[in-house]
Amino acid sequence: MSADASPAVPRFVAGPKKNLIGGAWVEAASGRRIEVLNPATGNALCSIAQGDAEDVDRAVAAARRAFEGEWRRWTPHERRKLLLKIHDLVLDHFDELALIETVDMGAPLARTNGLREWTSQVLQFFASHCDAARTETVPNSLPGQFLTLKHLEPVGVVGGIIPWNGPLIGLWWIFGPALATGCTAVLKPAEDASLSVLRITELMTEAGVPDGVINVVTGYGAEAGQALAEHNGVDRIAFTGSTGTARSVVRASAGNFKRLQLELGGKSPDIVFADADLDKAVPGAAMGVYTNSGQVCVAGTRILVQEAIYGEFVERLTAFTKTIRVGDGLDPETQLGPLISQRQLDRVLRYIGLGGGEGARLEAGGNRLGGALAAGFFVEPTVFAGASNDMTIAREEIFGPVASVIPFADADEALRLANDTPFGLAGGIWTESLSTAHLASRGIDAGTIWVNCYGVLDPAVGFGGTKASGYGWKGAREHVESFLYPKAVYLNLG
Ligand code: NAD
Repeated sequence: MSADASPAVPRFVAGPKKNLIGGAWVEAASGRRIEVLNPATGNALCSIAQGDAEDVDRAVAAARRAFEGEWRRWTPHERRKLLLKIHDLVLDHFDELALIETVDMGAPLARTNGLREWTSQVLQFFASHCDAARTETVPNSLPGQFLTLKHLEPVGVVGGIIPWNGPLIGLWWIFGPALATGCTAVLKPAEDASLSVLRITELMTEAGVPDGVINVVTGYGAEAGQALAEHNGVDRIAFTGSTGTARSVVRASAGNFKRLQLELGGKSPDIVFADADLDKAVPGAAMGVYTNSGQVCVAGTRILVQEAIYGEFVERLTAFTKTIRVGDGLDPETQLGPLISQRQLDRVLRYIGLGGGEGARLEAGGNRLGGALAAGFFVEPTVFAGASNDMTIAREEIFGPVASVIPFADADEALRLANDTPFGLAGGIWTESLSTAHLASRGIDAGTIWVNCYGVLDPAVGFGGTKASGYGWKGAREHVESFLYPKAVYLNLG
């Protein structure tokens, strides 16, 4: 395997990476390493530390010391200033961070650079929550003279486990609320995409985050991830990943009854009613599936289309899909980059095979890309028409750019199909009717519904799932409060 020497690759990427534990950059205790590949070229970029239970133990101890030390006495104003300093430093380095993310996990620069404004919003959002009211006086009916208060206290050490499809987004859902509330954190990024997290962590220490307040242990899920989920020194686990892994995280958390936040997979319905504006619905629903090469938890992969417009919709979706430019994310013209790994490519191609095998009609795509892209993990955006909701491609999360277009007769059938899934993460509706929009948005069992748009996300509004998509809310006040626990105080004034 050759090393990636492209001049576009930022200097940070070269050289072995270490873990951040208690303010020091250290090798994994075992000395083992994981090779990091550029998914667009298959070339080696560098290596990361292969942390395991020993490293997690050290990181949790450092986080506990920090939680019980000076950090606890930082005022809300001091924590807010720190978050705003991180905001400025991260934005100053955003060109570099976008490049790192692109070469590490494949998303095109158009997407990674596009996260600049969102990053600014999310950091300002958490900064603005440092001094939100944490104590309230609660009226009581006790005999005598009592003053009763409710405080919200930081839960302590938070363990964060995130997937590879968007580390530049995922780390803020852990570090943001931790810094806003006075918790400390140990983050285990995904083994396939840790580099942007490591660079941001460097910037955060440069901004003045005290030693031990944030810690990063890279490594495999079965070793470092499992150890973090099991560790009795961790008070809360914020897990984002697949439904299968979540089951083992839930079991692992039983030792000390950790609080859990589970943001899991989806198989979201995107309903196109006959009165929809197809000029908007076709590209909107298409990119609702293909964005980030389909490696998006909320991807609207089941496109439910009303029978009256089914033929026209499929034709236009197919034509649109064929115009999409797939390539190396460093090319500014690229709309879709590679999948993250050979393993993910094999998985997506297996599902494409199953779609055809179960009787869906392949209208576009379906192949691995060859030629100049043959060394990377590229697959064409793919449309299956004539799909039904009981086919494997409509039931299981593929995590690739594969759309299943399913016909429906009326709104009742659309909602029945939409909800006939174990998942409940998101859903979309395309209609020009206000009442259809309202009724259908209430009728879909999912945490986020988009009407005449797909995938927009404001940290102040937040999002989360239901059913097998997990529980907990990311963003909004609820997210900050989930890093706190309530404490009642009874003051006898008599
Ligand atoms: P995954 O579950 O395989 O891995 C996620 C993380 O968990 C990684 O860091 C991994 O190393 C770690 N892990 C693996 N085994 C573990 C174990 N036994 N104990 C503890 N940690 C372990 O998921 P993935 O394939 O990396 O990511 C894709 C999944 O993430 C999809 O299902 C996607 O829908 C989901 N996702 C959900 C959201 C959301 O907010 N709902 C956002 C992004 C991705």
